[in-house]
Amino acid sequence: MKVLVAVKRVVDANVKVRVKADKTGVELANIKMAMNPFCEIAVEEAVRLKEKGKATEIVAVSMGPQSCQETIRTALAMGADRGVHVKTDAELQPLAVAKMLKAIVEAEKPGLVILGKQAIDNDCNQTGQMLAGLLGWPQGTFASKIDIGDGKIDVTREIDGGLETVSLKAPALVTTDLRLNEPRYASLPNIMKAKKKPIEEKTPEALGVDVTPRLKTLKVEEPPKRKGGVKVASIQELVDKLKAEAGVIQ
Ligand code: AMP
Repeated sequence: MKVLVAVKRVVDANVKVRVKADKTGVELANIKMAMNPFCEIAVEEAVRLKEKGKATEIVAVSMGPQSCQETIRTALAMGADRGVHVKTDAELQPLAVAKMLKAIVEAEKPGLVILGKQAIDNDCNQTGQMLAGLLGWPQGTFASKIDIGDGKIDVTREIDGGLETVSLKAPALVTTDLRLNEPRYASLPNIMKAKKKPIEEKTPEALGVDVTPRLKTLKVEEPPKRKGGVKVASIQELVDKLKAEAGVIQ
């Protein structure tokens, strides 16, 4: 079964993001970028499926500026076989990404598509669900376990208060949660090998998708600064404060 994995380039999870002075977004100039952590988990799962003989080929897809090719190379170094880069400098929102992925899925015909459950830059958590909807495919979101059987894919999902297992008929779509696996670090020989793996370039126009944003960001602001705590001398004082100041008990 061919597996297609969508990998997004985002601000590195260890970087403290700063809001631009004009509040139009976050500072991206000279900021360390990396593969979205949930997408790393998606690549790792695809590679493990290939190692178990369940996947035959892994295609890593990324959409965005030229620098996305570095993210695709990371996926190739982890074990993906080839890449597809949809090159655009336009702002991409989940619906546009889902429409472009649909066009690529229709051309590639994978048996399984794996996405991250959300991108840590916009926290949208929408693209996988939209893509499954557009394709009319079954979906298993927030996966913490994937089992591939004969023509079916069992996905254990992290839901409020426990786990749920759904059985999907292939072809199907899965989005990854944090506990699915621990992504590997690419070894130096694999990083070298990845340089020779092919990356096909496409454009939104060639895929027939209008990527014009449907949503407008009005402003981006830092969360309010946390106020310092205070020490109370007694339980009675704590209860009084919870009643009178915090208003959380009556
Ligand atoms: P989101 O719906 O924006 O939170 O993103 C969820 C997932 O969709 C990500 O983890 C990726 O797997 C995929 N995705 C979103 N944007 C892109 C992109 N520009 N290129 C490739 N994959 C993407």
